[in-house]
Amino acid sequence: MSDVLIVGGGLAGWRAAEAAVKVGASVTLVANGAGNSPDIHAINVPVRADDSIELFIADTLKSGGDACDPALVETLCRESVKLLDEFPFDRTADGSYKVIQPLGCSVPRCVSIEHKIGAWALAKIKRALAGKVEVVPGRVVRIIQNYSLFTVRYSLGDDDASASARSVVIATGGWCGKYDFSDNPPELRGDGIALAQSLGAATRDLDAVQYEPTVALSPARLRGIPVITTMLHEGATFRNRLGEEFLPDKHANKDAISRAIFAEVKAGRGIDGGVWYDATGVSREILKTRYADTMRRYAAYGIDISREPMLVAPAPHTSLGGISIDARCRVLRADGTPVPGLFAAGEVTGGVHGRNRLGGNAGTEVLVFGKIAGMEAAAYATRT
Ligand SMILES: Cc1cc2nc3c(=O)[nH]c(=O)nc-3n(C[C@H](O)[C@H](O)[C@H](O)COP(=O)(O)OP(=O)(O)OC[C@H]3O[C@@H](n4cnc5c(N)ncnc54)[C@H](O)[C@@H]3O)c2cc1C
Repeated sequence: MSDVLIVGGGLAGWRAAEAAVKVGASVTLVANGAGNSPDIHAINVPVRADDSIELFIADTLKSGGDACDPALVETLCRESVKLLDEFPFDRTADGSYKVIQPLGCSVPRCVSIEHKIGAWALAKIKRALAGKVEVVPGRVVRIIQNYSLFTVRYSLGDDDASASARSVVIATGGWCGKYDFSDNPPELRGDGIALAQSLGAATRDLDAVQYEPTVALSPARLRGIPVITTMLHEGATFRNRLGEEFLPDKHANKDAISRAIFAEVKAGRGIDGGVWYDATGVSREILKTRYADTMRRYAAYGIDISREPMLVAPAPHTSLGGISIDARCRVLRADGTPVPGLFAAGEVTGGVHGRNRLGGNAGTEVLVFGKIAGMEAAAYATRT
């Protein structure tokens, strides 16, 4: 039996494992894939002199609207600055942080490590926890709570197995893998929400899904891979079938851009259900330095994005609603009381992003709330 059992092997799950191990808890982590976390390029942390925690809170609330839980947003933004002590984010020659401006943020706020903070953080945590966490490659299908003990059933190949723990962290990511055209892997189908509901959890905003406006439709091998939207701040634009530029506001959030693209397609001015994302107006130097991955990816199929536009369409990218939690990651019932011993973090939860997530906020969310969930689950397990 473990003190803490974590369901999910993305960054929320591994951050929870890291925090729980740090305080001496025994941890089992069950996961059936890598999830979306290895794809996180950059995360939001207010680092510039013209930015602040308050502006970060205001931007997040403005983007998410009334569906944000202000306590969760406050925790996200206040705790984010502590990440600066943990991660050696990339800096420029003058020592300042390298930042890019995600859609919907008032100022540049996205920091990273080699454009791959998700993969970087996962590798670092897994290295540090090697031999300290029992990792089981299974799909959790049921969680049963009996007084202060959880029994977790999972499928392991053709077999079923179970494990028990004093507390459980659900970190199973979102459900966008259920859609035919999505940039998520198929194992992300919302299992964690059903598991939590079976234990009495409340959920919120389950109809809220964020579309990534610029997901590749072609070439076939790139279908479903998103193309970074920050190029819009560097001179990229959208064009319809007639070659007309149609994006009204380059500072619009992802939601507004997706709607504008769908409207164009609906009006009969699309191409195979999508539109052209045209980066030919971005200097080749900027494309080579800031968007080298995108350039390389298309170049492999003979497309030079400094000369040719990319065919893209919006696709379900992040589920925004999910399990109701409080700022301590305790899973809540409909009456607001916590389900004892049950915690959740990351994309499986709702309330952090409201109905529209700022680009970069999901990465911050998993690092901040994954850690809180692990600390709280360990504290609960060692108390009972
Ligand atoms: C292509 C792409 C790029 C992105 N880039 C960024 C970015 O740059 N910045 C940003 O802020 N956000 C970004 N996001 C969003 C971000 O990646 C996710 O919101 C975040 O990774 C969610 O982390 P998580 O740990 O909650 O879930 P995930 O990383 O998705 O992990 C979920 C885990 O749960 C496991 N699981 C699911 N069901 C079960 C089950 N029943 N039993 C066992 N295990 C289960 C999965 O296999 C996986 O291990 C991006 C998303 C995509 C798709």
